[in-house]
Amino acid sequence: MPLVGVLALQGDVREHVATLRSIGADVREVKRAEQLDGLDGLIVPGGESTTIARLLTTSGIRAALEKSLAGDLAVFGTCAGLILLASEILDGRADQWSFAALPLSVRRNGYGRQIASFETPVTVAGVGTVPGVFIRAPKIETWSSDVEVLATHDHGDGNHPVLVRYANVWGCSFHPELTSDDRVHRLFVDALR
Ligand code: GLN
Repeated sequence: MPLVGVLALQGDVREHVATLRSIGADVREVKRAEQLDGLDGLIVPGGESTTIARLLTTSGIRAALEKSLAGDLAVFGTCAGLILLASEILDGRADQWSFAALPLSVRRNGYGRQIASFETPVTVAGVGTVPGVFIRAPKIETWSSDVEVLATHDHGDGNHPVLVRYANVWGCSFHPELTSDDRVHRLFVDALR
């Protein structure tokens, strides 16, 4: 089975670890840069993107992960993780940086504040319909034509991608780790073999 890391600085770490273990992946919580070595894939969880960004810098993982992203490590950012991978952040904090590994722009809290959180069915290409839990979710507003769109959602303003893949980098607006449906994790893990 592939060895999948979960960036364990802040956010939905436990939930991702539990889902990955339940589908049989080997899992490593990543708290230090050297723990990126030997991974087949890495999940950057949802949480608070500004907090995770700060901890990425202070832990030294930022520089190491930049190199891994430029190499061929498969990295999947969910919610805050998507924000951290995007090439452009709208409504971000003035000093907010990102890895710019996904050629798309995301608007922080683009689906509304905490109170506007919602769950909706999301149809994923080749997978079927999964529950989409959106919590202060980033909205993908523009994206390069070579980004593979695996799922979209129309929140009353037209279809926006909610699950995307660009070579080795994946991103998702919702929280697949917060439901018992493991098919989005399986999609990522199966691609690592
Ligand atoms: N809005 C949050 C942020 O900017 C992300 C929300 C989430 O991960 N649930 O980090």
